[in-house]
Amino acid sequence: MNPDFDALIIGGGPAGASAAAILAEFGHRVLVIEREKFPRYHIGESLIPFTYQPLERLGLIPRMKTSCFQKKYSVLFVQPDGRASQPFYFFNRYDRETVAQTWQVLRSEFDQMLLDHARAKGAEVLEETVVKELLRDGGRVTVVGAQLKSGEVVELLAPITLDCTG
Ligand SMILES: Cc1cc2nc3c(=O)[nH]c(=O)nc-3n(C[C@H](O)[C@H](O)[C@H](O)COP(=O)(O)OP(=O)(O)OC[C@H]3O[C@@H](n4cnc5c(N)ncnc54)[C@H](O)[C@@H]3O)c2cc1C
Repeated sequence: MNPDFDALIIGGGPAGASAAAILAEFGHRVLVIEREKFPRYHIGESLIPFTYQPLERLGLIPRMKTSCFQKKYSVLFVQPDGRASQPFYFFNRYDRETVAQTWQVLRSEFDQMLLDHARAKGAEVLEETVVKELLRDGGRVTVVGAQLKSGEVVELLAPITLDCTG
């Protein structure tokens, strides 16, 4: 059987959307299968230094810099009894203009931006579709069974499947 896509990506969070954008940029036919409808709530909003480089690779730094996301320059740890550590300023150790820059994001908006970026690069995205089954040939996943929003179950074929379900 002919494959439907070059790669299937299960999960449209940051990992899946980033992989989809890069693969599509190289001209591969990519399908992201995401069970939720974006924008959706997700925990994990406090980005850390060195997130800069993957965002740069994706070409999203200009968009991050002009976004409404809160810029984040340091961390400070608060103990259960309320005592706070000294703040740790990232730029004391890392390059102020690049990797020391990071952001506090709203994951619903941040993840939407990444998924839309993957679409803009040419990836297809199926939202509200849940992967239910992985069929293997030897050790390799060759067919992905997914349930569409309508309830219909479809089988998708690709030589590569990435599990980006978090
Ligand atoms: C309590 C907590 C606090 C955290 N705080 C931070 C923080 O402050 N800063 C930080 O950087 N990170 C934080 N993290 C980690 C951060 O949330 C993850 O690193 C990040 O979300 C991983 O991205 P991902 O794309 O791999 O997975 P996810 O963002 O989880 O995306 C996976 C996607 O796959 C979809 N999916 C799952 N199963 C299926 C299926 N069967 N079919 C189709 N789609 C499916 C989901 O709907 C989801 O959209 C925190 C995590 C937790 C649990």
